[in-house]
Amino acid sequence: MQGVQSLLELSPDALPAPDAQPYRRAQLAAWLYQRGALSWEAMTNLPRAWRAELGARYRLSPFVRLERFVSADASVRYLLTLPDGKQTEAVYMPYRGRKTLCVSSMVGCPAGCAFCATGALGFGRNLSRAEILGQLLVVAQAEGIAPREIRNVVLMGMGEALLNYDNALGAIRTMIHPEGLDMSPRRITLSTVGLPGRIRRLAAERLPLVLAVSLHAPDEKTRREIIPTAHAHAIEEIIAALHDWQAAGGRRVTIEYTMLAGVNDALWQAEALVALLRGLVVHVNLIPFNPWGASPFRSSSRAQIARFERVLTGAGLSVSVRFSRGRDTGGACGQLALSGEGALASSGL
Ligand code: SF4
Repeated sequence: MQGVQSLLELSPDALPAPDAQPYRRAQLAAWLYQRGALSWEAMTNLPRAWRAELGARYRLSPFVRLERFVSADASVRYLLTLPDGKQTEAVYMPYRGRKTLCVSSMVGCPAGCAFCATGALGFGRNLSRAEILGQLLVVAQAEGIAPREIRNVVLMGMGEALLNYDNALGAIRTMIHPEGLDMSPRRITLSTVGLPGRIRRLAAERLPLVLAVSLHAPDEKTRREIIPTAHAHAIEEIIAALHDWQAAGGRRVTIEYTMLAGVNDALWQAEALVALLRGLVVHVNLIPFNPWGASPFRSSSRAQIARFERVLTGAGLSVSVRFSRGRDTGGACGQLALSGEGALASSGL
């Protein structure tokens, strides 16, 4: 039994319950978000007739098929097929006691970053609130863990989350809801290519999320070469929005910077980055480029990344070099491109 409306679209406190038994709403929320039940049959303490009624109206999993690719470093890439046949991806990263899920907010991405395989796919469509949230539930089920064991979420998969604002925020609200996944907003990172108006709108939500901005270049010319949609917003405008974010109580911002040999890794660019970020509380993530298919880019060498990093740390910036997980399965940053080759397991949902 599968209804048409997705139950995950509803906030946990707006879930249905029979008129005479309002407590059933909390039971249903617990089945979904504490136990990760994705079938009506599993919800054994709910009356059978009510489950049949719910099943006729609502569907549980927003996906019809799941393929699983395990990387040598233990990260797992999930290729998820939606009922309309479109596909999206999530990457599960269990390491050092932390279980993190990188989720997508779209099918493909309209930003078109030249160094990113997802950008080369173009824009498919926005994911609904249920389709964003559902990634946590289906991955938890496939990994054999409870959904609440995933304590860190990064909205860094396919898509520009701030262009799918209402659905991304709706999913986040269920993630942090005490009857939802009960996550700390401080453990949710939302990544954006830098949309000043949407950053200010997010600041007004007063949620202590982590904001990650994909800057990738400190100068307009280079940035426009590698992020075609950067034409819409000057770097100065993005930086001004980050000052507003922090003035409104927003937390430290993560600056994402993919290291591309001969493109954005010169030392003058490191110095320009230092000047640009002056006065902001930031952490800079330097990401060695992850190669894919026909990409013309190469990663900066380790030595050049170290030199670039020294300029930043010398100026007092907090910096890390992030070697991505899942490179061998196409699950690393910038590699998500819906490849279905080499799946270890697949299943209908
Ligand atoms: S890097 Fe992010 S914003 Fe740019 S195309 Fe890829 S998914 Fe979209």
